[in-house]
Amino acid sequence: MKKERLIIGDMHCAACVANVKKNIETIDGVSGVDINLLTKTADISFNENKVNVDKISNVIENAGYRVLEIVRDNEEDRINALNKLDDEQKILKKRAISSFIFMLVLFYVAMGHMFHFPLPEVFDMMLNPIMFIGIQFVLLIPIMLINLHIFKNGFQMLFRRSPNMDTLVAIGSTAAFIYGVYNFVVAFNLTKTGDIAGAHNVAGNIYFESAGMILAFVAIGKYFEGRAKASVTREISSLMNLTPKMTTIIVGQEKQKIASEDLKIGDKVIVVAGEIIATDGIIVEGEAFIDQSSITGESMPVEKSVGDEVIGTTLVKNGYIIFEVTKVGNETMIAKIQKIIEDATTTKAPIEKLADRVSAIFVPAVILIAIITFIIWMIMGKEVSFALQMAICVLVISCPCALGLATPTAVMVGMSSGAANGILVRSAQTLEIIGKTNTVFLDKTGTITNGEPKVTDVIVKNSISKDEFLVLAYALESYSDHPIAEGVVSYIKETIKDDEITKLNVESFEQIFGRGVKATVEGKKCIAGNISLLKDEDAYNEEDSIIAGSLPLMEDGKTVIFFACNDNIIGSLALADTVKQDSKEAINWMIDNQTDVVMLTGDDVKVANLIAKEVGIKNVYANLLPQDKDEYISKHQNNSDITMMVGDGINDAPSLVRADIGVAIGAGTDIAKDAADVILVKNELSDVARTIRLGKSVMKNIKENLFWALFYNVIGIPVAAGLLVPFGITLTPMIASAAMSLSSISVVLNALRLKKAKWL
Ligand code: ADP
Ligand code: MG
Repeated sequence: MKKERLIIGDMHCAACVANVKKNIETIDGVSGVDINLLTKTADISFNENKVNVDKISNVIENAGYRVLEIVRDNEEDRINALNKLDDEQKILKKRAISSFIFMLVLFYVAMGHMFHFPLPEVFDMMLNPIMFIGIQFVLLIPIMLINLHIFKNGFQMLFRRSPNMDTLVAIGSTAAFIYGVYNFVVAFNLTKTGDIAGAHNVAGNIYFESAGMILAFVAIGKYFEGRAKASVTREISSLMNLTPKMTTIIVGQEKQKIASEDLKIGDKVIVVAGEIIATDGIIVEGEAFIDQSSITGESMPVEKSVGDEVIGTTLVKNGYIIFEVTKVGNETMIAKIQKIIEDATTTKAPIEKLADRVSAIFVPAVILIAIITFIIWMIMGKEVSFALQMAICVLVISCPCALGLATPTAVMVGMSSGAANGILVRSAQTLEIIGKTNTVFLDKTGTITNGEPKVTDVIVKNSISKDEFLVLAYALESYSDHPIAEGVVSYIKETIKDDEITKLNVESFEQIFGRGVKATVEGKKCIAGNISLLKDEDAYNEEDSIIAGSLPLMEDGKTVIFFACNDNIIGSLALADTVKQDSKEAINWMIDNQTDVVMLTGDDVKVANLIAKEVGIKNVYANLLPQDKDEYISKHQNNSDITMMVGDGINDAPSLVRADIGVAIGAGTDIAKDAADVILVKNELSDVARTIRLGKSVMKNIKENLFWALFYNVIGIPVAAGLLVPFGITLTPMIASAAMSLSSISVVLNALRLKKAKWL
């Protein structure tokens, strides 16, 4: 099974997308197609033994589209692909400008006399009607040639019985053209018989300028639409462009400049103030303030020193660092972020599928309405020219391009501006569900709190020394990556000198999620964890002095972990974690906005309640095992709640998957959190509130867009068909064409508002 991405030109609307998809899907050997109208990409999965890319490209070209590029999964091809989009945009610009110039002149000739604009006598409508029509004909031809692709594509699609927006424009302008030519011949014959006045009357009914305007406005509309779309796609590609071309590495004692793409894992890179870090790594020398806004959207610089991770595309503000490269190419954080956004934007929100289905039946319906319009006006005794004009208006005003753009533009702008602020959403569908969330479950440690618990108290049995106890604690906890273990380890490292920590022999280490750890240390069976663990392992004894001594600490809201060897408790450590500074505010916002907030924690009830009170949470479930969290979420789902689970990822995977939306917070450089639907790069709870706002804003924007797109058509079609003629309102094809272009442009502009919207 192979997957390739093709960039497709001349694909402008939802009907085109449906058509391309249908064509590709019918190829034997193709198993899946995902098309993105905005990036003009088609992701195609196929069996390479049955079919190849050339064959697929042929089918696409035969269907009337152009295959601009085949993109493979590497950076160079991606940049090329973006350049191709630029080229396409340049072609659209040329078409728009040249059509516009010819259209202006055509308009001047055809309509100028109404405003008494001067015109050479040879072209005078009264004196020389044949020349008057003739010059219009001559001016229309280049506009038709410039936009020939519309006719080619439109009629081809019509004959294949899958008419699209080009079909509507092509039929509309061809009808105007043929009618004009017919009248041209009539006028010519009248002139030959000397009936100049009769020829002049006919000359007023030509509609060459209508044909010209329809085409010119469509060309201009496509250009502006393309520009707006490009600004959306650019947002994504700008992430990649931040990587500096060259970078300085240290080889031995020498500094050496090399291309960033040649960096290898293990290279030592030196970065000084004002320079951008080329790839991900770990600092081995120096310290610096680093502006990570390219990843997190947060412009406040972060201080980093030896041992800290640095991320490619972030900026060294002052100081200098030498870091060792840990990730290159597709493995870097920025590449992964880009991949997530790209994958996400090729997925479809359920609401979008609806729009696709509507527009697939829409075009044939419009053609039918146009024919009926023509017939009805003829029956009502109007002239052919009038009936035709109305039918053309119907065709032109109802192009479903706005409908096709409504959802993908909003989703794409939403996702990319989310990403620019450290909020990565994995799919369009996720975004739609986020907007409906009404219950948020929060993990405590690392989610509501900073997740960096610090040891505050040490209680040791008389039978051993404090150092002996700490060395044992170190041995047990140094194998765990739980925040508590990290707190314990760093405390012991500070208390006892490195070389004095005797390395004990640890065997069969085991992590018991939500409880603690277990191992054989120097032949003794030792455990470290909460009271539940003591009970599970039969080491619990209510009368024990360590337990009695630890109770007051727990009352204070500290997390106490107990250590026992061979079922005898030997000591405990109390740790205090601080609440993140924005937790309370974020939780308040959620509660104020009709969202239930529930705390789920494996920690003790007392600690949980204290923290919950501090941040204003009323629903608390404590002492949970990871699978219990999962169960609580299921229970709410059965209540038909839309649930969101936020966790720092450490042993929260099952509940992240269970919830309708799983949110991994503080993902740092580890953004490959597979279980999560949303990845928050920063470690702030207010980003959860932001994510909800983003989801809601995008949904609102989509609805606005769909409303405007449909509204245009619902109002536009009857008006174009002549419903308001009795009230003196008659659309001309020119106005219809302008209105149609305007509707797509307004949809795209509305979506772009999300970039600066209040969701931040
Ligand atoms: P939370 O739901 O707050 O993130 P966890 O489910 O990760 O908590 O852990 C629950 C409890 O299990 C902790 O409060 C702690 O008492 C105990 N625990 C977990 N891991 C360890 C460890 N490595 N060492 C000691 N205790 C641990
Ligand atoms: Mg946790």
